[in-house]
Amino acid sequence: MSDIVYLNGKFMPVEDAHIPVLDRGFIFGDGVYEVIPVYSRHPFRLAEHLHRLQHSLDRVRIANPYSDAEWARLAGEIIKRNAGEDQSVYLQVTRGVAKRDHAFPKGVQPTVFMMSNPLVTPAPALVESGVACISAQDYRWLNCDIKSVSLLGNCLLRQLSADAGAAETILFRDGRLTEASASNVFIVRDGVVLTPPQDNLVLPGITCDVVIEIARAREFQLEVRPVSEAEVRGADEIWITSSTKEVLAVTTFDGKPVGDGKPGPLFRRMHALYQQFKQEHMRRAA
Ligand code: PMP
Repeated sequence: MSDIVYLNGKFMPVEDAHIPVLDRGFIFGDGVYEVIPVYSRHPFRLAEHLHRLQHSLDRVRIANPYSDAEWARLAGEIIKRNAGEDQSVYLQVTRGVAKRDHAFPKGVQPTVFMMSNPLVTPAPALVESGVACISAQDYRWLNCDIKSVSLLGNCLLRQLSADAGAAETILFRDGRLTEASASNVFIVRDGVVLTPPQDNLVLPGITCDVVIEIARAREFQLEVRPVSEAEVRGADEIWITSSTKEVLAVTTFDGKPVGDGKPGPLFRRMHALYQQFKQEHMRRAA
């Protein structure tokens, strides 16, 4: 069965979906996107993803082509038309097709594309072992709160860790932790969970918010504040979070063990609570 995608009002096999070469998403990377995890055919935190989509669209001045109810209906439809109980819905809105000119064209319809792939969450062995990460300087632009399809900086940074056989590249800007190339970062020091504030230097991760919510509800000691590079390098635990990775322990950082080189006790607790939260949330959705 071929994957069914949505493009500008129609569902079709992926092979039949084409966009004009003058689409500004192709020419300029002029568009935004979302990735929504789907468990048991129910989108997880859909309202939060649509809220972040609205934020990204507002920041790049593209009018939202659909209401939240329409997005929800389309997401439901793409999930229904694709195989697998657990999926990862990708949606993208670009400014549309126009003669190449940096300034915004007038009267152009945005291009809307959606697809859904099987959701592959980390294997239990990976949760048990943790992952290796490396560091790099965060040289991306200063609007990282926009979930922009212009991901060249993130791709170049992610490739550094891929080349090193590591799972992620953790980024520092001016001696401070920002995030990783496609995840948010938490650290633990002396029993306190720390993560940087959601400003223009990081993507406001939906998974990050869930972890913060759980930490607050379960009375972890949590501080959302700037985190220095030295604090990360001396951390007892490092975690990365994203919709597809959920919560993963970083057990090696730049070739050195983090803590004792095994996923730490607060990670284990948070991972279990995250799985529990997911189950409860999805049961309610069902
Ligand atoms: N930061 C970046 C740069 C990302 O690309 C992502 C998503 N892959 C995240 C953080 C995590 O966001 P979410 O939890 O919403 O997947």
